[in-house]
Amino acid sequence: MQTYQNTVDGTLTEPASHYEIFNPANGQSLGFAPESDEQEVDRAVQSAVDAQKSWAERSDQERCETVQKIAQILEENSEYLAELITREQGKPLSGPGSRFEMQACVGWTQVPASLKLAPEVVYEDDERKDTLHRVPLGVVAAIVPWNWPLMIAIWQIIPAIRMGNTVVLKPSEYTPIATLEMVRLINQALPAGVLNTVTGDGAIGSKLTHHPDTNKIMFTGSEATGRRIIEASARNLSPITLELGGNDAAIVMPGTDIKAIAMDLFWGAFLNMGQTCACIKRLYVHDDDYEAVMSELSAIASQMKLGDGMDESVLIGPLQNNMQFEKVKELISDARSGGCDIREFGDVPNKGYFLPLTLVGNIKDGQRLVDEEQFGPALPIIRYSELEDAIGCANRLEAGLGASLWADNATDASELATRLEAGTVWINQHGAIHPMVPFGGNKASGYGVEFGIEGLKAVTQSRVISIKK
Ligand code: NAD
Repeated sequence: MQTYQNTVDGTLTEPASHYEIFNPANGQSLGFAPESDEQEVDRAVQSAVDAQKSWAERSDQERCETVQKIAQILEENSEYLAELITREQGKPLSGPGSRFEMQACVGWTQVPASLKLAPEVVYEDDERKDTLHRVPLGVVAAIVPWNWPLMIAIWQIIPAIRMGNTVVLKPSEYTPIATLEMVRLINQALPAGVLNTVTGDGAIGSKLTHHPDTNKIMFTGSEATGRRIIEASARNLSPITLELGGNDAAIVMPGTDIKAIAMDLFWGAFLNMGQTCACIKRLYVHDDDYEAVMSELSAIASQMKLGDGMDESVLIGPLQNNMQFEKVKELISDARSGGCDIREFGDVPNKGYFLPLTLVGNIKDGQRLVDEEQFGPALPIIRYSELEDAIGCANRLEAGLGASLWADNATDASELATRLEAGTVWINQHGAIHPMVPFGGNKASGYGVEFGIEGLKAVTQSRVISIKK
């Protein structure tokens, strides 16, 4: 059985210890993941420090060309990495699964390499000229979760190195191996030390974020860990990009053609078995449309095949880990004991962390499945009589990552969109992120944005050159 390895200073390292990784669809062993010790964190950060100056001195064009080479490597190895993602994370190869995740990795690599962030004259008169330059921050500590392990790692790595930083990445302890393989491959295009990895749980993450030689923290994960990251950032006054959990509301406006939107609503909620930060987690529908929504979503859910995602005909896989599996079961059972209408779909395999696709009706705000981020395939469908009440419900929680409005007339929806308290409000789509469009949370879903020009700025500091004429 293979033991996967960290990359430090361009070299694969011998692990201090290792642990076994199992396929969430069938419990089979996938091999061993390395576990870094504190010394390895020190070595990885030191190698990033050593590489950073000369990497930053290269021209912008040279760095962009290197990033384009990385995109090519990702493209050439996409099937290999997609299969590893499916075996390790659980999302199927087909549909919006691991091949889709690899396509996103390629796109989110190509786009930052095609953007320009030139110095900007911010003020000029007869006496002075002030130009704002964007310079790298130094060493970026990048910490990612287990739901879209490679895509989220790419979101953090690529803008950082494109702008002249170096990176130490810590994948989630649940999904390290596909990420380690991706980093090993990407390193073929990079000078040693520009991109390093360390592995382990929160204690290793904490060692990395508290390290005196890191200069920026990129973090995607839960709100609870996010608060610890903020504390860690005080050590070095490190700027942070925080992408935290969501509990996205979708509101279907009265009288909308439900058949026309049902498939997009379904995938908006069940993408990656609901284990997506910006998935629909609460669906608000008008009393008059409730039965139609229930029946259209039921019809779609009943056609979906659950199973091991290596089977090309499977579109719905398992949950990624036991912790998540137990948590979602508990929220469904709380809804069941609260008298909700629970409708389950799909033949659940008898091995692995599978749950049926679950629609939950007769449920209200205040019940746990509505108020907590369920991060699984269980969608609460909440009735409203007045649109105003639905907007109030959508805004009542602390989470503010995404939200969506669904209507036959997009203009009506646009007028309401600015009243929803979320980093992105989608109309007639949900979770439709794009590498050119800034993405980030409001309220307790974090701060700072990724993607596009704003995402590049977030991995730099500003330096003003001010000339007296
Ligand atoms: P998590 O917070 O438990 O773990 C995330 C990462 O942080 C892991 O690598 C973990 O090892 C590390 N970590 C844990 N404690 C740490 C500490 N004290 N210091 C440094 N690192 C530490 O989150 P998770 O369960 O892996 O991911 C699920 C959560 O991520 C959900 O809430 C989801 O909504 C959120 N998420 C948000 C986005 C977004 O873009 N906003 C995207 C995906 C996932």
